[in-house]
Amino acid sequence: MIPLQRPPLHDRLAADLARRTEAIRAAGPSTATGRSAWRTARESKAKLRTLLHRMAPGLLRCMYCGDNLGTDIDHFEPIARAPLRTFDWHNHLLACAYCNSNRKRDLFPCDPVTGAHLLIDPAREDPADHLLLYLESGSYQGLTPKGHATIDVFGLNSRGELVRGRRLAFTVVKSLLREWHAQRKVSPDAAGELADALVVLWQADVLRAVVRLARTPPLAEAVLGPDAHAALRQLAYQDRRFT
Ligand SMILES: [Zn+2]
Repeated sequence: MIPLQRPPLHDRLAADLARRTEAIRAAGPSTATGRSAWRTARESKAKLRTLLHRMAPGLLRCMYCGDNLGTDIDHFEPIARAPLRTFDWHNHLLACAYCNSNRKRDLFPCDPVTGAHLLIDPAREDPADHLLLYLESGSYQGLTPKGHATIDVFGLNSRGELVRGRRLAFTVVKSLLREWHAQRKVSPDAAGELADALVVLWQADVLRAVVRLARTPPLAEAVLGPDAHAALRQLAYQDRRFT
């Protein structure tokens, strides 16, 4: 999971979503009225999907697991709990079918004392404040109750293919960094393509963890190895996407 920038809505779409919310309010907000209104709002959903694609990490990846193609518009706070948020743009995230239908469903864990929700919203906060990715193992450690709940709900450590994918992606990132370093003077175009490949890598959380690691040079050198670490430092100097 990486932090995401939510683009603003244009006026026409904002007015359309507000009108649809008012219709749910008038019909009596419930799971049924919310879901029924959502099901039939084909045109609005197509526009929302286009905006979510602009926000999505890598190649339209799921905003939760970062691994699968983001196919579904997920209601961060489920319709069953907040029908009046059915058309709230700040309540929409792009999820894969597995995260949406098999993991999150209508789950929305909250702190029993404060009532604050316990899932990370990557469009509102930096997941790194709650989750630490161990690059060599591919596993996440929860740093806060929110981190623990997010790992649990989405199965970020129990889905073996996610853990293995992150571990392998780390190997690929190190290799691409070294290759970029080797190419940067002999073939700047090829080096540029490698830098682009790193940015759209399917496991964007792995690259972000590597970039964050560079803030702690002794640790970065130990984890990345001296060559990949030197390449990352040079790349960060030349390309602000790596800072
Ligand atoms: Zn997913």
